[in-house]
Amino acid sequence: MDYKKLNLTIIGHWGAYPGPGEATSCYLFSAEGYNLLLECGSGALSLLQKKHSLLNLDAVTVSHYHADHIADLFCLQYAVRVDMELGLRSSGLPIYGHTEDPSFEKLTYKNFTTGYGFCEDTELALGPFTLTFLKTVHPDPCYAVKLTYGNKSVVYTADTGYFDALIDFSREADLLLCESSLYEEYRGAIPGHLSTGEAAEIAQKGRCHSLILTHLPHFGQHKNLLEQARKGFTGPIQLAESGLSLVI
Ligand code: ZN
Repeated sequence: MDYKKLNLTIIGHWGAYPGPGEATSCYLFSAEGYNLLLECGSGALSLLQKKHSLLNLDAVTVSHYHADHIADLFCLQYAVRVDMELGLRSSGLPIYGHTEDPSFEKLTYKNFTTGYGFCEDTELALGPFTLTFLKTVHPDPCYAVKLTYGNKSVVYTADTGYFDALIDFSREADLLLCESSLYEEYRGAIPGHLSTGEAAEIAQKGRCHSLILTHLPHFGQHKNLLEQARKGFTGPIQLAESGLSLVI
C-alpha cells in the first residue's frame, strides 16, 4: 500500500445480496495510515479481514440504511466491543450517517460505536480526508459522498436515480464510483437506481477522469454493462470486483 497516496479497495460490489463468497456495498479508503470504511454491507466483514485488521479502522460512513449497505455494521459493533474489552482497541469507532431515518440511532452502541449525523451542508474532516454530501434520488433518504484527499477526489453515488445535480457534484472527479444496477435496456425500470448508460452519462458530462461501475445486478452478463457504458463515456471504465485495489 502506498502510504502517501489515496488507496481504494473494493470489498463488496453487489446490489441487494452478496454473490457466493462475496459482499454487497463496502469500500475501504486509506491514506497516511488512516482507514475509512464506506458502507458495510452483507458479507463485508468477512472479506475485509482477509487483508485488513478491523483494529485499523478509524471511521465508517454509510450513505443510507438499506440492508445491502449496512447489514454487517451491527456485527462490526460487536467486533469493536470484543476488541475494546480485550484491550486491543483503546477508543470506540465513529460511524457517520444521515439523521433522516430512525435507524441513525442504531449507529451508537454503548460506548463502543458512536453515531454522528451529516447533511448536505456538512463538510466532514476524517483523518486526511474531507467528505461532502449530496442527497440522491432513492426511495429512502440516501447521500452520495465526495471524498477529497489532497488534489484527488472520488465521488461515490451510493444508490440513486438520475438527476442533474449529480453531474455538478461529480465534476472533474478522478474517479466516479457509480452505481449501475441496471442494464441499459432496463433504464428507468427501477426508480432510484441507475442504468449503466446513465452512469456513463454522468461521468461524461461531469468530465470525470475514470469510472467504476458498482452495485451490480444478479442477472445478465456484467461485461454488457461495461460495453454499454463505453458508448457513453470515453474515459477508462472498470467493473467493480471483490478485492480490486487501486491507487488514485
Ligand atoms: Zn438502497
